[in-house]
Amino acid sequence: MSESNFNGRVTDPSSLADPDPEFQDRSITCIDCSRDFIWTAGEQAFFRDKNLQNPPKRCKDCKQAKNERLSAIAAAQASGIKQRIEVTVSCARCGEVTTVPFYPSQGRPVFCRSCFLEMNPSILNPQA
Ligand SMILES: [Zn+2]
Ligand SMILES: [Zn+2]
Repeated sequence: MSESNFNGRVTDPSSLADPDPEFQDRSITCIDCSRDFIWTAGEQAFFRDKNLQNPPKRCKDCKQAKNERLSAIAAAQASGIKQRIEVTVSCARCGEVTTVPFYPSQGRPVFCRSCFLEMNPSILNPQA
């Protein structure tokens, strides 16, 4: 395992113990709670190593809160997406615009509810 330096910057091994003079602790105002937080020189070096261009916008608390919001939304979508699908189609028989709770297959006719029931009367009269 060797660390290759892609940006052509030569690291002098004797300077490794010192903080990188390129970076100094910076104060950033969090866009969520408007409090200032410190973006440390170490974090800035980490960002540069990861090739991240933009400084953080949120303090650690707000960043965590945001991640929790996002994963809650993802979890809600994963569990509820089947019930929430609503696709607007026009009925292949009468032309009426309707919505169906599924994605119609390409080339397959979709019917509005009344046409569908008319064509499939057995749905209304299930065998007892
Ligand atoms: Zn914050
Ligand atoms: Zn119809």
